[in-house]
Amino acid sequence: QGLDFSTIASIKLCQEGPTRVDPIANFKDAGLHPAMLRNVELAGYEVPTPIQRYCLPAIFLGHDVIGIAQTGSGKTGAYLIPILSKLMGKAKKLAAPRPNPATFQEGVDQPMRAEPLVVVVVPTRELAVQIFNEARKFCYRTMLRPCVVYGGGAARDQEQQLQKGCDVLIATPGRLVHFMEKPQVLTLRRVRYMVIDEADELLDDDWKEQLDKIMSGGEQEEGNLNYMLFSATFPKAARELAKTHLAETHVRLRVGRAG
Ligand code: ADP
Ligand code: MG
Repeated sequence: QGLDFSTIASIKLCQEGPTRVDPIANFKDAGLHPAMLRNVELAGYEVPTPIQRYCLPAIFLGHDVIGIAQTGSGKTGAYLIPILSKLMGKAKKLAAPRPNPATFQEGVDQPMRAEPLVVVVVPTRELAVQIFNEARKFCYRTMLRPCVVYGGGAARDQEQQLQKGCDVLIATPGRLVHFMEKPQVLTLRRVRYMVIDEADELLDDDWKEQLDKIMSGGEQEEGNLNYMLFSATFPKAARELAKTHLAETHVRLRVGRAG
């Protein structure tokens, strides 16, 4: 299901952060990788939503981003489209060596650990699966391989998926920390983009400690790791998380209905 664009038209966006960007008007002029532009068209996206108009250039320019916007405003695409597009040109160089999924034989080929370039953390299994499905659409016919792990799913199956190689990992926090403690299965040392989606819900549910652990788990040479924080509201706990981990020069976008 798509968005109701009469609703979208009434949505206003303001830039609040220390850094400002010029919005794009359409996907064609956004400087997307050709494979991503095709996948955006295949997804039926014709016009970028307000948060996408600002978020795409912000991420392309290499900024950390805080996006405060209600459900249905297109936040998933706002971060997945530019992040995955940027990686499409560089995946060969950045990604870890991995087995070919088409020829991988269970029990014969050596399993490898997952060394994702992108980690998206979400509060629920349903959301994780939903974002995983979006990621699959955007990664279609590219080198990038998405993977999803969540609490309640069989950890053994998820481990096997991870060990076939994973570039884009969508995860709930508890299960992610579980796998971070198994370095033969997962390492965050290659992560370039770390996204905390629905941050307010995560913090409501007391995942603060795990989030700090996850966000510090990908620490590498300065400037190599971008943090994104998306949320419907921006409570104190979310502001603190942002202050600890995001660059001071981040872009902050807030979307709200006019009137
Ligand atoms: P949010 O995370 O802000 O709640 P989503 O990213 O889940 O919003 O998007 C809501 C719905 O709108 C999804 O079905 C998504 O595929 C669709 N959508 C997002 N951006 C666009 C767009 N530019 N054009 C058409 N549909 C879109
Ligand atoms: Mg969302």
